[in-house]
Amino acid sequence: MSQTILVSACLLGLPTRHDGRSKTSPEVLQYLREKNLQPVPVCPEQLAGLPTPRLPCSFHSGDGTDLLTGSGRLYRSDGREMSAPFLQGAEMTLTIARLTGSQAALFKDGSPSCGVHGICRRQQRVVGQGVTTALLRRSGLLVYSEADL
Ligand code: SF4
Repeated sequence: MSQTILVSACLLGLPTRHDGRSKTSPEVLQYLREKNLQPVPVCPEQLAGLPTPRLPCSFHSGDGTDLLTGSGRLYRSDGREMSAPFLQGAEMTLTIARLTGSQAALFKDGSPSCGVHGICRRQQRVVGQGVTTALLRRSGLLVYSEADL
């Protein structure tokens, strides 16, 4: 049986992004085939119960690591704080990792949930990781992005 890996649903072609679109990555699909990995599609923001399409969110302070410790803050573009649902989406994604025995995740970089090397803070791209990435890494999973392939 092939090994499972969590994959950002939008990279697999599912229209889960805040604008209702996907971000299909042929490189990711080819990588999964070549490595004989069984993708488990996850969208932490949909798992948190957020609608699609939805308003974009970005960090006002810190990154996903800081959100886990209570020192970061994440807001929607209309000014509503969204830290709690993003934490919930991260927890749900970790639950799916455990249910499927997944030890790794291949995530879409730049997202406030899935970011691996970078996130958006106050509309600027900065170094940091998303909330779900931070929680999965803290729980021992290997998390990498489409840019690492
Ligand atoms: S939360 Fe992750 S999986 Fe969902 S749309 Fe954003 S980058 Fe893709």
